[in-house]
Amino acid sequence: MMNLYTFLAQGFPQMGEKPAMILPDGQQISYSTLITRSAQYAQALVNTGAQPGDRVAVQVEKSHEAVALYLGCLRAGTVFLPLNTGYQKSELAYFIGNAQPRVIVCDPGKRETFAEIVSTLNPDPSPAVAGVSVRSAPHTTVLTMDIAGTGSLAEIANTCGADFATFARNPDDLAAILYTSGTTGRSKGAMITHRNLAANAETLVKFWGFTGDDVLLHMLPIYHVHGLFVALHCVLRAGAAMHFEPKFEPSRARALLAKSTVMMGVPTFYTRLLADPNFSKVECTTIRLFVSGSAPLLAESHIEFSARTGQAILERYGMTETGMNTSNPLVGARIAGTVGIPLPGVAVRVREGEITCGANEIGSIEVKGENIFPGYWQMPEKNAEEFTADGFFKTGDMGQWLENGYLQIVGREKDLIITGGLNVYPKELEEKIDALPGVLESAVIGVPHPDFGEAVVAVVVALPAAQIDEATLIATLKADVANFKVPKRVHVVAELPRNAMGKVQKNLLRQQFAALK
Ligand code: AMP
Repeated sequence: MMNLYTFLAQGFPQMGEKPAMILPDGQQISYSTLITRSAQYAQALVNTGAQPGDRVAVQVEKSHEAVALYLGCLRAGTVFLPLNTGYQKSELAYFIGNAQPRVIVCDPGKRETFAEIVSTLNPDPSPAVAGVSVRSAPHTTVLTMDIAGTGSLAEIANTCGADFATFARNPDDLAAILYTSGTTGRSKGAMITHRNLAANAETLVKFWGFTGDDVLLHMLPIYHVHGLFVALHCVLRAGAAMHFEPKFEPSRARALLAKSTVMMGVPTFYTRLLADPNFSKVECTTIRLFVSGSAPLLAESHIEFSARTGQAILERYGMTETGMNTSNPLVGARIAGTVGIPLPGVAVRVREGEITCGANEIGSIEVKGENIFPGYWQMPEKNAEEFTADGFFKTGDMGQWLENGYLQIVGREKDLIITGGLNVYPKELEEKIDALPGVLESAVIGVPHPDFGEAVVAVVVALPAAQIDEATLIATLKADVANFKVPKRVHVVAELPRNAMGKVQKNLLRQQFAALK
């Protein structure tokens, strides 16, 4: 095994002038430009004093230069640490204090903020981790990169040569640390190795049939596993091209679909396309594959999308810590409301305690394979809890196998509601509520209750012009499910709070509706 960059570069096209990226203004970034620019960034990092294993924290806008920087970090053997552009000072201070990066690259507007954070950093020697250098007195350099790629980092890079001998790395050396978007407690730094990323990239390119002829529509952020690893690695490893857009915008997506062969998105992309009455099959004729993940795609959206475009969205399941674990097939049935079958090389099991669940029995999802991360940064006790004795990672997701061998996700363990000692799986109720007339979507949560421990509460979004009556909805559910599952309250809201990846933020709903009255 080798440096992940070298592995990806093996898939680069022979013709270096072939575009890797097509930018919104039509400018093309060729593979040879990516090679040269990543070499310059790698050398710039080395010149700044970054050594293999050092963390490079990056909070910059999405741009082709940011992609070259990511590749440069890999080439220099450093650990890429992308930060959500929405993070503010107190959050950033935690990440920087925890990860102790050698270099920070940020938007010029955030330079002062990072400089202040760095000035208050206490040296905190980290325990030895494969491929990570430990310094007793870390010294952090703050460099800038704006959306055009210019800034103090580019100034150094511009003086560097076009060749850089990519540093060899061991498979278990860290390639990246991604902080999970933890909704409870502090977010954790998932350590991700060169092996994890190369294995998953190889699997996905084959499983989803990527070739050099593909053109991917890339509208995802690149600080998250979906846009950074899944989308970029499939393109680069296959020597394909991508339309590289700053963000999702439905009319822009519709215009670019006709020039693309694959689109990867979070479910919100698909619901927003469907919300546009002019979106139709005509725009999708060149597309061979629509992929959805990072949050559950409503079965209804899947069905409506098929009806509208003639294409079945391929839903897959993964997470920051694991990369991709299961996927609906490229050839064969893509079943709405399921995340498909285990990917080659990934062992997936569903267990209730130590007992393996049979079909239609809900349990905890555990995964094992070369794609699974070795643990969280500087959390040895946490790591021991997160893996089983036989090396499976406990995802924290609950699910069940259907009779046909497809996996269905039921929700996060922490979203499981225990009311009067009985388990309520939010997904079961959400599906029933979503199917009721006048309902667009719903989220079912547990809120504190003096007698039951937790009480079931439904938060519902109505279809345009529809009215939802709490008493009627509760009465309808009473006729359908056991009494303990019936929501004590139904709140109607204009929309559900979602994060950038389209995940419903149930923690916010739990806060908002904590009082039962
Ligand atoms: P992240 O680490 O931000 O990618 O979040 C990973 C989590 O997103 C998983 O543990 C699941 O709870 C959820 N997730 C990802 N893909 C899906 C999917 N297709 N269906 C349901 N949940 C998903």
